[in-house]
Amino acid sequence: MRRRLVGALLLVHCCSGDDATAAVAVTAQLAETFAAACNATDFHALVDLPAAKYVHVMDFSRGIEAAISAKRGVPCVLRRLARRPANSRCARWYVGRYDEVRRNMYTTEMFENATKTIDGYAGIRDVHIGLDIGGPAGTPVYAPAQGVIQSFGYNPDAGDYGHVIVTEHVIEGVRCWMLFGHLDSASVAFKRVGQVVERGERIGAFGASHENGGWAPHVHFQVSLIPPATHDMPGVVSAAQRDRARLEYPDPRLIAGMLYHNLLSCDQW
Ligand SMILES: [Zn+2]
Repeated sequence: MRRRLVGALLLVHCCSGDDATAAVAVTAQLAETFAAACNATDFHALVDLPAAKYVHVMDFSRGIEAAISAKRGVPCVLRRLARRPANSRCARWYVGRYDEVRRNMYTTEMFENATKTIDGYAGIRDVHIGLDIGGPAGTPVYAPAQGVIQSFGYNPDAGDYGHVIVTEHVIEGVRCWMLFGHLDSASVAFKRVGQVVERGERIGAFGASHENGGWAPHVHFQVSLIPPATHDMPGVVSAAQRDRARLEYPDPRLIAGMLYHNLLSCDQW
């Protein structure tokens, strides 16, 4: 589960401090530096997941309805959301993939508004640029590394993050930010900007759908190499900005571990 990504992820130049508009210099060299920094770091698990065979890798590329209608392995939480009974084959845990095109999934007003801009990202956004880990509401979420809380809050729009926390870290000299979205209200209570979080510290828990933007309980985990302006990141981006997003928001499996491989295989269904 802890196998690392290797190879040619590109990185953006690390930006200092809180200047959200800092110019971004993208270099392959820095990309490799970040990948190497992650590979050299012993991150704490984001979520205590059971063995991989109990974690369903979702295919959201044809939308949420198609995913729920799949014959085997559909997570119980998604079946419940669709008001379908759990069955003996449904899984309690699932993973949603990074850099996945998810057509017909982001249909609430906030996504329909192509002029809404988040950290320079706009347009019709349906390429998922974070990593989802789904399971029961209340599931604890742990900080993968020591850092500080950069921002937190409540993004209440339908389809948005609900309660969300962004932390800032320096991984082997490379500054990055981590977003934890769709949390419960208790996750943001008693938090303060600048608060130190220790590696492995419980920083929150999966929110239920009434407080997480209306989704089945899960955490959306996103890694950024540019400083977010506030407690937000574009969790999905347009096809036109996909390449840029892959640079600025690297594959979260660098930190969360290889929770899935790029191609779905039959034994994952
Ligand atoms: Zn997500």
